[in-house]
Amino acid sequence: MRSLLLILLLNLTQARAEFTVVIDPGHGGKSEKHHSDGSQKGDGSSWNNATAATYGYLEKDLCLNYSKELAWALHSSERAKKLGIRTILTRKTDKHISAMTRSAFAVEYGADIFISIHFNASGKGKASGTRAYYCSADHPEWEYVHFVNPYADRDRAFAERVVKNISGSLELYGAKPELAKVFGDSRHDGGHLKDGLRVLGYARQDSHLHKAVIILLEIEFIDNPEVAAWLLSPENRNHTRKATAAALTTAICDHLETDTPPTEPRKTR
Ligand SMILES: [Zn+2]
Repeated sequence: MRSLLLILLLNLTQARAEFTVVIDPGHGGKSEKHHSDGSQKGDGSSWNNATAATYGYLEKDLCLNYSKELAWALHSSERAKKLGIRTILTRKTDKHISAMTRSAFAVEYGADIFISIHFNASGKGKASGTRAYYCSADHPEWEYVHFVNPYADRDRAFAERVVKNISGSLELYGAKPELAKVFGDSRHDGGHLKDGLRVLGYARQDSHLHKAVIILLEIEFIDNPEVAAWLLSPENRNHTRKATAAALTTAICDHLETDTPPTEPRKTR
């Protein structure tokens, strides 16, 4: 009887979520606005919706596949189970959701980690490397207000952990870890947000989210034919997707096991 109780208690403990990871598969649905060059090519909710140089993949479909793979990896990882991680996806199908609504998922579910997953394009097909963006410490002109992120260092540290793990895991296939980089979302010229990064600011602006780390990840430049050849080839694409999910799972568990979140929401505006 006692052992039965123990098993019941253990099951209850395992089922209770201690940490929440909100995964945001970038884009989705149809283009809402014109591209910066005035055209309306492509599909999906952003002007920077990359199309793979080879194999014809659209960024929005890869984002969704990679996000689902990450959710599955977190669901099946013993380490993640021990930590009590639950995962929430901002979309599970091909639909458009605004940046504000996507960031609201993090608030609604009390995220410990919010990670927006994307693939990059430089337009010239030459750039490569994993990139991650975090909400910079200072935005002198964020939608007409002076907006400060007091947690920028913590966000940046998580972003660095993520790009290091992913580029290290993908090196086996052709990635160059020395090209992996982390950036803040504030431009040097007056603190305007870089295009496509508003989801970071919207999420970070909510003071309830002081415990969350918030990043936007660009896994690789898929408009580069050399990258497409090792990342998306029929022989590699399942392996690279699983390797990325495993690298992210490790980064997430490492962060949750070692991080001490701030207890008091600090004034952000
Ligand atoms: Zn994107």
